[in-house]
Amino acid sequence: MTLQNIVHNPIYAGIYMHGRRAIDPRRRIAGRTSTGKVTVPMEQWKVVLPGRLPAYIDEDRWRANLARLQANRATAGTPGAVREGPALLAGLLRCGRCGRKMAVHYTHRPDGAVNGYSYGCSRARSDYGLPRCQHLSGACVDTHVSAALLEMLAPAALEVSLEAATAIEAERARLEALWQQRLERATHAADRACRCYRLAEPENRLVVRTLERDWEQALVELERLREDHDRFLASSPPVLSPADRDRIRVLAADVPALWHAATTTNADRKQLLRTVIDTGTGSVIGDSEQVTVEIGWAGGHRTGGQLVRPVARLEQLSYYPQLAARVLELDDAGLPAARIAEHLDAEGFHPPKRFEVFGSQSIRDLVQRLRATTGQPGHRTPTPPPPGRHTWWMSDLARELAMPPVTVYNWIRRGWVTAHQQPGTRRWIITADPTERERLRELRRLPPGYHTRRRWHPDLPPTDRDDHAAKAKL
Ligand SMILES: [Zn+2]
Repeated sequence: MTLQNIVHNPIYAGIYMHGRRAIDPRRRIAGRTSTGKVTVPMEQWKVVLPGRLPAYIDEDRWRANLARLQANRATAGTPGAVREGPALLAGLLRCGRCGRKMAVHYTHRPDGAVNGYSYGCSRARSDYGLPRCQHLSGACVDTHVSAALLEMLAPAALEVSLEAATAIEAERARLEALWQQRLERATHAADRACRCYRLAEPENRLVVRTLERDWEQALVELERLREDHDRFLASSPPVLSPADRDRIRVLAADVPALWHAATTTNADRKQLLRTVIDTGTGSVIGDSEQVTVEIGWAGGHRTGGQLVRPVARLEQLSYYPQLAARVLELDDAGLPAARIAEHLDAEGFHPPKRFEVFGSQSIRDLVQRLRATTGQPGHRTPTPPPPGRHTWWMSDLARELAMPPVTVYNWIRRGWVTAHQQPGTRRWIITADPTERERLRELRRLPPGYHTRRRWHPDLPPTDRDDHAAKAKL
C-alpha cells in the first residue's frame, strides 16, 4: 500500500491538490468514521497546483508512471505487464473473430524449458462453455510480426515515416493558424460586447440587461474556444527537431542487430514491440493453414498480412483438394513416392506441419488413404517380384492375403513368417509357397485378439508359444 501510494500520490511530483479523496455515502458503514473513502479521478479534483511542493520526480515522469501502471493491469483493454516468456505478442494479440484478447499457452519439456507456445481465444469456452474460438501456433505469428517490425524500422521505411511526420507538422501548423483566427474573432466579439454594455445608459434597464447577457455569452464562447484549443495542443504530437531526426536514423540502423543480439531479452523485445505496435489481430481462415494478421501501429496506421500456420492434418490445408488430385495424377503416372514428393515441392505444395517438403512415407500414406476413400485402385505398373522362388514383397503378400501390410510386418517381427531383408534396399522379402500361403490365410482367419487374449495357437513358434502360455496362466 505504501509503495502504491508513493507512485500514485501527486505530492511526490510537487503537485498540490485537493479533492483526491471523497466520501461516498453509499459505502459508509454507520458508526465507523473511516469508511466510505473513494479515490476521485484526476479530472474531477477540485484544486491542482503543479510546482508548489519540492518534487522527487517531475510531473511528466509521474504521469508516465501512472500510464505505465494502468497499461500493466491485466484487464481486457490493456496489454498487461511485459513478462519474460518468449511469446512476443502476449497481451497485444486480439482475436480477429470476436475481438477478445488472445491468451498464450506454453508447452514445456520435462526439464521445464519452454517447448512451444500458441495463441488461443478460449474466453468464450472458459466463460460460457462454448467451443474454442480459434487457436494458432505462436512462432509463426511472432516471426511475421517481428519481420514486419524490422521492415517498418528499416532506414528506407523510416524516411517515409519521417516525411509523413513533416507533412503532419505542416498540417498542424495550418490548423494552428485557423485556431488563432477563431480565437481572435471570439476575443474581438467579447470586446465589442463589453464596449456596448459600457456605453448603454443605465436608465434603459431592459437594454442593459440584454447587452449584459450578450457580453456574458461572448465570454463563455471565448472560454470554451480556449479550452478546446488547449486540448488540441495537448493531443498533437510533439514536433521532431532535426537533432531528433538524426538520432532516430542512427538508432534505426542498429535495430536489426539489437533485435537479434543474444544479450537482448524477450522482455526487451516486447518492450520495443510495444513502443511501435499498439495491437495485433489474428484470424484463422476457416480451419485452414491460412491466417490473416493485422498490425495496428502506434499513431493509428494499420497494415495487413497473410501467413501460414502449421496445422495437424493434411485435410485442413486450403489447397488439399488440388494437392489430392495432383498426388493421384502423379501416382497414376506410375511415379514412386519420392518422385511425387519432388514434384509437389517444385509445384509449391507444402506439408501441414513445420516441414518444408513432403516425405516419401507421408505420400505413400496419402495415396493409400485416397485410394481407399475413392475406392479407385491405382494404375501403378506392378513392380517385378523379388529374386528367388516363391518370394514376395511385403506389400504384395499383404495384397495377396487381403490384409494390411502392417500386420504382415508384425508377423515378420514375431517370427511367424520366413522373411529376410534385401541387402542394400533393406526391403522385406517373404518366402511363401502355396502351402505356406494357405497356412497364413488360416492364421489370418482367426478372430482378432486370438493370439494375445486366448490360448496359444498351435502354429506359433516356440518363443511366442511360451509367451502366450505364460500370459494364459496370468
Ligand atoms: Zn475469438
